[in-house]
Amino acid sequence: MSTPMPKGTALVTGASTGIGAVYADRLARRGHDLILVARDKARLASLKARLEADTGRKAEILAADLTAKADLEAVEKRLASDASIAVLVNNAGMAASGHLAGSDSARNAAMIDLNIVALTRLAAAASANFSAKGRGAIINIGSVLGLAPERFNAIYSASKAYVLAFSQTLNVELAEMGVRIQAVLPGATRTEIWERAGIDVATYPPEMVMDVSEMVDAALAGFDQGELVTIPSLPNAADWQAFEAARAALGPNLSLQHAAGRYKAPAAA
Ligand code: NAP
Repeated sequence: MSTPMPKGTALVTGASTGIGAVYADRLARRGHDLILVARDKARLASLKARLEADTGRKAEILAADLTAKADLEAVEKRLASDASIAVLVNNAGMAASGHLAGSDSARNAAMIDLNIVALTRLAAAASANFSAKGRGAIINIGSVLGLAPERFNAIYSASKAYVLAFSQTLNVELAEMGVRIQAVLPGATRTEIWERAGIDVATYPPEMVMDVSEMVDAALAGFDQGELVTIPSLPNAADWQAFEAARAALGPNLSLQHAAGRYKAPAAA
């Protein structure tokens, strides 16, 4: 049987809107106090007021730009040192549209800083805290684009492939220590991320776009079912299992002493 969501404070990054705000809502309703992280203090304050009134849980605001060194270090320190924190929702992220050639290098760097560097450093801080206690949960928000990178912006998709690989290894490292890891791979979800990236999500076929509440509720159901990887829209779990089985089948031949026959020079005549 899988370990249930540990009791204790949940720190949610990117809590001011979208997927993070719904996680904050759902976790408060499940009995967690909250630490809400994002840049927009006014939005965090209104979420805090609503959640405290609706649920009676405590919500603290920790305003931070996770691409800024000092802010990231402050959140990292809090995660490493606060024994009341039991859940990290590593959700803050940004997207970009368009091809790499001619793209905005500052925006690309910010996307890597937020989607990869901040997520990694916060997970590392939480891992140390949770493994010392022998309990905790880290939920990393990836994307189906980690599995289908050709469909979208290269850096965004690759950053989400990182989240999947990172979570799979963390699970190996931490499962024995009583720490749950979940990688959530949403498909297109109706939030502000699209507009922020200059894309009109209304141009997507509606049957491809999920409402954010349904997405988060499904991800939490996946957590409760003990999943390491949750793809909220995937109708048949056996498809993911077949994908994983194909990956495992490569395993014994991924590192061998000799090159495969097809790469060997033909013998001289
Ligand atoms: P969103 O509506 O744009 O929300 C992003 C959140 O991240 C906001 O709370 C934003 O708050 C925060 N954030 C952005 N930059 C930040 C920074 N530099 N420092 C701290 N916080 C920052 O996006 P979303 O759709 O909810 O996305 C949440 C996660 O889901 C992301 O990792 C995204 O890649 C992933 N995802 C989304 C979709 C989708 O279709 N929506 C699909 C797959 C995966 P502030 O602006 O207040 O800082």
